[in-house]
Amino acid sequence: QQEQLIRRERLASVGQLLAALAHDLRNPLGVIRSSAQIMLDRNRPEPVKEEVARYVIDEVDRLTHRINDFLRYARQKPPEPELVSADALLREALHQWNAQGGQERIRVDLRLAPDLPLILVDPHQVKEALVNLFMNASEAMPDGGTLTVGTKRAASGSVELTVADTGLGISEANLRRIFEPFFTTKEFGTGLGLTNVKRLVEDNGGTLHVTSKEGAGTEFVLYFPAHCDLPTAARNSSRSG
Ligand code: ADP
Ligand code: MG
Repeated sequence: QQEQLIRRERLASVGQLLAALAHDLRNPLGVIRSSAQIMLDRNRPEPVKEEVARYVIDEVDRLTHRINDFLRYARQKPPEPELVSADALLREALHQWNAQGGQERIRVDLRLAPDLPLILVDPHQVKEALVNLFMNASEAMPDGGTLTVGTKRAASGSVELTVADTGLGISEANLRRIFEPFFTTKEFGTGLGLTNVKRLVEDNGGTLHVTSKEGAGTEFVLYFPAHCDLPTAARNSSRSG
């Protein structure tokens, strides 16, 4: 009976997931369809058609993001850890974000600490988490702002990755809910981004902290255990000496 209950609960959550996804797909698909109709209309001027084509691209990009959020939420993959540098992860995540469109109106301030120890994480998963944080940060700065990303050695000895924005900030009431699945304050949000980020970070042995001030900005800090407590330089010299 216990098993039956668990099974029923799981089906309910799959149903909930599908219902949310279907709801999310319907509007953009409608926009794409009517755009195609406008493009087929011989009487429409070329500039209008161009604008409409741009809508289609935006909608398809949004759909892709949404589907990725849902897929990641539904399908957990065990991490495949490698020894990597936090700097490289941040740089590559920034690169990935830029390749996806990034944001021209946002200034990126990169602050990398020297001689950090390596961390043992799945680089794809941590980059995915970082890109999610960059997207949220840029969505919180519609009129532009500064995205500060950096690495640091935490007081505890672990390696710290920081993603901070100068955006809208999060109210105290919302701050308690941002990691809940489907919690969103955005018209086109899935509310799954931070749920996925938290899970990705924790699956990789890390922890995640957030501080925010309404109207001032938000800072996410990811902590990962240092793989070796000696900085790279010291390790190299002790090996040669
Ligand atoms: P979504 O982006 O689809 O809304 P997320 O799980 O990524 O879902 O975020 C949940 C909510 O947390 C957002 O709707 C927003 O209210 C808040 N939030 C997340 N990141 C930030 C940020 N950097 N600045 C302000 N609010 C944020
Ligand atoms: Mg998000």
